Amino acid sequence: MEYQIPLLILEENVLQEVPLMEVYVTPSGLDHVVSIDTFEKHWPQKETQYGPYMLADDFISTVTQLNTLFAPLVAEKEDYNLLEKMLATKVTFAVENAYRRKRLEENTPVEEQSLGAFYEKEGILLLLQKSLIELNGTVIHEFGHALHKILTPDAYYKSNDVMKEIIAIHLQRHYGVKRNYAMKPHSVAVAPLENLESTDFQKQRFEQRWELLTSLVNHNPLLFAAQENKP
Ligand SMILES: [Zn+2]
Repeated sequence: MEYQIPLLILEENVLQEVPLMEVYVTPSGLDHVVSIDTFEKHWPQKETQYGPYMLADDFISTVTQLNTLFAPLVAEKEDYNLLEKMLATKVTFAVENAYRRKRLEENTPVEEQSLGAFYEKEGILLLLQKSLIELNGTVIHEFGHALHKILTPDAYYKSNDVMKEIIAIHLQRHYGVKRNYAMKPHSVAVAPLENLESTDFQKQRFEQRWELLTSLVNHNPLLFAAQENKP
């Protein structure tokens, strides 16, 4: 299977997707092809410290690592290919003016726009940030939302926004990416998560922590649980 990853650009004031990379599954792992044409015509050279080849390598390595991390959670499911399910989630990278336009069209004011978004239907949208390390943290965060929906769709749809953010931020922090958030619901998610991380919860294996968090659809019990379990 091949998976197309487009670049969202603003061309003559209209949002447009152009091919950026194609990722495909081979017997020895994931491989990719980058569109040279898009690179030459549309890549924001001045706004990024990396090119599409580095981005593609980084993206593939992230997806592969997530697939390994989540393997114990799908070990008992028959004929279940998590890697393909993750790749079937559409991922779109966006240059800054296109990203801002898209978010404004959804009525998200500039000051409330995060660096990426996960949509139930359209998948993951990512702003091409200046630093690849920063962008990588956002890729992991948005895949946290995607994996929540892929693995436990019922819980995902019932979850409140804060619970969804707790789950995505927890995955991101598992990879050592800590961020400060000014806006809700992200900003509200950090305190209960930090409370929880200061308890025995943090000593559990990743899959146990993920299962516990995704068994909740509302963060209120977490506030109390964290209080009671404090050493
Ligand atoms: Zn989020």
